[in-house]
Amino acid sequence: MPIRLRLTLWYLLILTIVLGAVAGGVYAFVGDQEQRSVDRILRERAEAFARAYAGEANEQESDAAVIEVARDFGRGEGDIFVYRADGNLLARSPQRVLRVADARSVADLRGAIDRAFAGTGSGVTVDAVRCIVAPVSGRGKRYVLVSTESLGGRRSALILIRNAFIIVIPAALVIAAIGGYFLAMRSLSPVAQITETASHIEAENLSDRIAVGNPSDELGRLAGVLNALLERLERSFQQQKQLLADTSHELRTPVTIIRTEADVTLSRERTAAEYRDALEGIRTEATHLTGLIEAVLLLARADAQQARVARQEFALSEVIQHSVQSLRTIAAAKQIDLACSTDGPMPMVGDPELIRRMLLNLLENGIKFTESGGRVRLDAHRAGPSYVVTVSDSGIGIPSEEQAKIFDRFFRSDSARTRDAHRSSASGAGLGLAIARWIAEVHGGDLRLLRSDRSGSVFQAMLPIQHERAMNGVA
Ligand code: ADP
Repeated sequence: MPIRLRLTLWYLLILTIVLGAVAGGVYAFVGDQEQRSVDRILRERAEAFARAYAGEANEQESDAAVIEVARDFGRGEGDIFVYRADGNLLARSPQRVLRVADARSVADLRGAIDRAFAGTGSGVTVDAVRCIVAPVSGRGKRYVLVSTESLGGRRSALILIRNAFIIVIPAALVIAAIGGYFLAMRSLSPVAQITETASHIEAENLSDRIAVGNPSDELGRLAGVLNALLERLERSFQQQKQLLADTSHELRTPVTIIRTEADVTLSRERTAAEYRDALEGIRTEATHLTGLIEAVLLLARADAQQARVARQEFALSEVIQHSVQSLRTIAAAKQIDLACSTDGPMPMVGDPELIRRMLLNLLENGIKFTESGGRVRLDAHRAGPSYVVTVSDSGIGIPSEEQAKIFDRFFRSDSARTRDAHRSSASGAGLGLAIARWIAEVHGGDLRLLRSDRSGSVFQAMLPIQHERAMNGVA
């Protein structure tokens, strides 16, 4: 069942209950008021009768006085019946309203008459005739007066009200149903629009957005949430597309070099030494290719949140020592002073292989961008719940306009490109810092460039010792 129909039906049901309750309430209230006013008239009549009897009883014998008064009152509206203490009917007006010769013949009234002899008056309704039964006494004699009034005339007002409700309520319900249906249709029309737009969004037009009518109402918020979702999808899609495009671009150069090297070498007979040289060159490029492919794979997995991240206890100081050790030869070849300082064993939980990779990326950059005779340092110490690892160099520094971009994928400064004429590993494709930052983040920390100028650069990684954040991958 469509929502608009369901809404209309609910709305109708509630309206029916409310209108029914109001009508019932009004009807009961008016009926009650009517009865009260009739009772008041009847009670006043009974009091007037008692006063008249008291006056008359001074002049004649009690029964005769009652008959006299009853004759006068019998001419008025409604009937009266007067009973003597022995229960016999003493006087009555000509029968008009209550169509009985003796009120005692009506069971309800008989009880009320007996109660009145005991001293308590009451009201009884018999066939749309209201009867007030009241004791009357004087000069030692006790009588009971039954005074009646037809409710017929007054009831007609109630019937009028009831008829009005019978016409007005269904009419109101019909109008409300039509209005409610249109209202529901109108307020739900943005949903149809959202559905329509959303169903047309494909990979090709991920940049399309759902029109937001009123951003602060429920549907506006829904459209906003969907748009934010599309935004994220588009960003991740673009990221993947960009990664693919950049990767293909980066892969082209080494593959071309390998092919050219092979073509040139094979174009004529070579000496064994020449073949070795050519193969060396091909191996270097192939190594570079492997590194690049591994780096891209890692980033792609990281994007898809599928990278394998171990969660084990290890000593950070050991990983630091090993990383520094493995770069000593390269640093020595460039006559760069490579040193490190640690702060005890530094136990932590995480992936030692990834941490090593992060440190190597930072140290390799330091060595690569420092002239010979310079120095590269790694200092690690504990600061509260985290370790702070600082890698500083006395290198060429990063121009301030490039500092914001160095963590971007495939970003390389122009000076780095010329330097990289001869590459030996994955470093050089502009992925090193992007991967290093991801590693820091997946460990619940971060990596930033603290400062960089002509006197060198300082990178700082913050690594929580024990991080709660679920690792971004498969442990
Ligand atoms: P690559 O693997 O090419 O070094 P990175 O992502 O590690 O790529 O670095 C990106 C760029 O950041 C480098 O090309 C270089 O311009 C700059 N950079 C990184 N580290 C340093 C450093 N220690 N000194 C100067 N420039 C640096």
